[in-house]
Amino acid sequence: MSGLTINSSKSQPQPELKLVTRQKVIDNGLQVMQEIGTNQICKVCIEHGGSCCSGCRHLSDRVGCQLRNTSCTAWLCGFLKYMLFKTNLLQTWNDYWEQVPGQDFREDFTPEVFFIQQQLALPNLQELSEALAADLNELAEQQASPDFILTLRDKLDKNVDQFLYYKNVSTKKHLKRNIDVLSGSFFRFHQALDSYLMAAEGADNRL
Ligand code: SF4
Ligand code: SF4
Repeated sequence: MSGLTINSSKSQPQPELKLVTRQKVIDNGLQVMQEIGTNQICKVCIEHGGSCCSGCRHLSDRVGCQLRNTSCTAWLCGFLKYMLFKTNLLQTWNDYWEQVPGQDFREDFTPEVFFIQQQLALPNLQELSEALAADLNELAEQQASPDFILTLRDKLDKNVDQFLYYKNVSTKKHLKRNIDVLSGSFFRFHQALDSYLMAAEGADNRL
């Protein structure tokens, strides 16, 4: 992301501020989403009636969103939140979007230009997205209830949010167990996650 840089003060190091445009932030968020492969998960979700845009007045049939905004770009459903949570990237995502003012429900009041301190960059998660999409697809086909995976998505969302919110160790332990149970059938995803975490650990050790 390009922008004007303000240098740190002489006496005390200050985080570097960059001037960015609202559009640049949206484009950057969409690009990161595309790079981590979320479209594969969305495809399965939408095929089973779970589009998060459904019913939105800004959605145009066969055209798509007519009012892309910072709020919808920042928003994560339970599936995407779970994937970033398990890869230890959720905080990075949240920290970035916390810098963006004016987010609202399906619209924003974000200024056209503003300052941020932190850029958004996530590693390639294509294999993880692909694995999770395949798990979800299989689950959806196996289950009698058509909205099984959508209920699962909402439960994952709630439990990950609560896990981040609560500080109490036993509450966190309980929530982590819930998340593990909810994601117990994500066999391909867990396999891909193990490989990803091993590679990430190896890269850290080489630093
Ligand atoms: S709810 Fe999640 S997986 Fe479904 S379409 Fe929206 S972002 Fe994609
Ligand atoms: S405003 Fe948000 S919810 Fe509505 S169509 Fe656009 S992305 Fe989807």
